[in-house]
Amino acid sequence: MSHCIFCKIINKELPVDIVYENEHVLAFLDIAPINKGHTLVIPKSHHSSITTPSDDEMLHMMKVASQIGRALMKGCDYDGFNLHLANGNCAGQVVDHAHLHVIPRIGTDGFHWNWRSQKYEDGEKQELIEKMHSRMKLDES
Ligand code: 5GP
Ligand code: ZN
Repeated sequence: MSHCIFCKIINKELPVDIVYENEHVLAFLDIAPINKGHTLVIPKSHHSSITTPSDDEMLHMMKVASQIGRALMKGCDYDGFNLHLANGNCAGQVVDHAHLHVIPRIGTDGFHWNWRSQKYEDGEKQELIEKMHSRMKLDES
């Protein structure tokens, strides 16, 4: 995708601080980190949504993100990390190339998720699960 900034980063047409790279994924420092070391892990082929990358790309995104989180804790004195992925503009996705955020955390960093908790009506959970099952395409073998 010629106009995608993350494809340009993959092709080294834009400056990038690479944390890790293999044939499936690229991991690089976010230009505007929530905490220093905040890293983005992206598939090397262009996918605007996380629903379309190959199994290999998906597996490598999660594996590399987990290892980067571990490295931030062991090597950079963080206590933990968040994995964050926004799929769709309504979910906060700004860059139209799927990306998994690895956000290193320390208890005193002052960053908070604006979490809320809703309640289910009677029967609503089962109805929801049935709708979800009808659209899931997982290899059950
Ligand atoms: P989103 O809001 O789509 O989940 O996250 C997009 C992320 O990409 C943001 O955290 C933003 O700081 C980062 N970003 C946007 N443009 C660039 C860029 O050119 N280089 C790097 N390294 N990060 C970028
Ligand atoms: Zn792209």
